Amino acid sequence: MQRITILGATGSIGVSTLDVLARHPERYSVYALSAHSRVAELAAQCEQFRPARAVVGTAAAAAELAALLKGKGVRTEVEYGEAALCAVASAAEVDTVMAAIVGAAGLAPTLAAARAGKKVLLANKEALVMSGQLFIDAAQQAGAVLLPIDSEHNAIFQCLPANYGRTPQGSGVAKILLTASGGPFLTRAVETLDAVTPEQACKHPNWAMGRKISVDSATMMNKGLEVIEAHWLFGAPTDLIDVVIHPQSVIHSMVSYVDGSVLAQLGNPDMRTPIAHALAYPERIASGVAQLDLTQIATLQFERPDYQRFPCLALAFDALRAGGTAPALLNAANEVAVQAFLDLRIGFRQIDRVIAHVVEALPHGAADSIEAVMAQDALARAAAERHIDGLTR
Ligand code: NDP
Ligand code: MG
Repeated sequence: MQRITILGATGSIGVSTLDVLARHPERYSVYALSAHSRVAELAAQCEQFRPARAVVGTAAAAAELAALLKGKGVRTEVEYGEAALCAVASAAEVDTVMAAIVGAAGLAPTLAAARAGKKVLLANKEALVMSGQLFIDAAQQAGAVLLPIDSEHNAIFQCLPANYGRTPQGSGVAKILLTASGGPFLTRAVETLDAVTPEQACKHPNWAMGRKISVDSATMMNKGLEVIEAHWLFGAPTDLIDVVIHPQSVIHSMVSYVDGSVLAQLGNPDMRTPIAHALAYPERIASGVAQLDLTQIATLQFERPDYQRFPCLALAFDALRAGGTAPALLNAANEVAVQAFLDLRIGFRQIDRVIAHVVEALPHGAADSIEAVMAQDALARAAAERHIDGLTR
């Protein structure tokens, strides 16, 4: 029996994870669930999965959850705040942690799971983008097993040789090919992008996801963050990673080898596949995802990314090349800009301009401690807010 904590249980990944777990009650039990503000949803999940512990964002949310659970006769212990998230991620009773909080808020609890040597199923890419080498080193030192949930990285993991080390050296890997759908605005006239609404930006053609990552997919910052994520997960130098637009999202990524072979992982676009893969690894379990019917799909298309249309992708490559805390600055500025777009404070095309402004205005430093990374994160958030204030006044 694998005992599992799900950080971000009420989100898109959290709900898909619980769906897979519910199919295999003989293999998995839920130790703890976390949410931020969707208390009623978390209460319903606690009623179904009976975790020992549940964590929410605030004291008020905790009181509300406790009252709801009492009414249902559910004896889950309710806690709140970051320290509680770190505690349920590192508790001795836990084997596996699904890290599916969105954004920088996921860093501390995900790192706590890694430092406690857990099997970490990594959906939260922002944590790795921010902390890079620090996170990988912490996981390595504690003997944590990191398994990628992001569909591209899970696909790459499946296509790499079983004995792959910490870097591509000696593995015969020539290129890591990250596929990208191009999002909802792949073919829309660029000059009309300033007028798009949050609803249009969040309407992804192939994937149903949370709002932040949906906007990131529309700007292609999501792919940029994934390039940085791939760099750290697979120890791959920047020039070994290529982005290929593939609008159908059937091939989830590929690995190209020196002998000319290209291995790809295919499947219907449904996150339950990578979730089930990582949960059961190295075994395979049913996920609820329908088998892929290639004759139904019939056509697979590929093209190069257009960096004029998607400046965020170029900004992410630049941040990765700059190194140090540059990716943390990029990530923080992006989180603030995306929220401002969702709140109707700025237009879609201002997202990349806010990020560019912040990464140019702030000098990046060495990412030699989590404290240094968090300090840069805070500086970038403040600079992004100031810049947005100036734009909207
Ligand atoms: P959602 O927005 O759907 O869910 C986010 C989860 O995090 C919710 O449970 C939310 O709680 C919780 N949360 C939000 N803010 C905080 C906070 N400040 N502190 C603690 N918890 C918080 O996001 P997704 O599930 O789409 O994405 C989660 C992560 O997985 C992201 O990092 C994303 O990049 C990554 N990912 C997602 C994919 C997808 O298909 N959705 C694919 C690949 C990666 P509440 O519901 O109460 O607000
Ligand atoms: Mg992805």
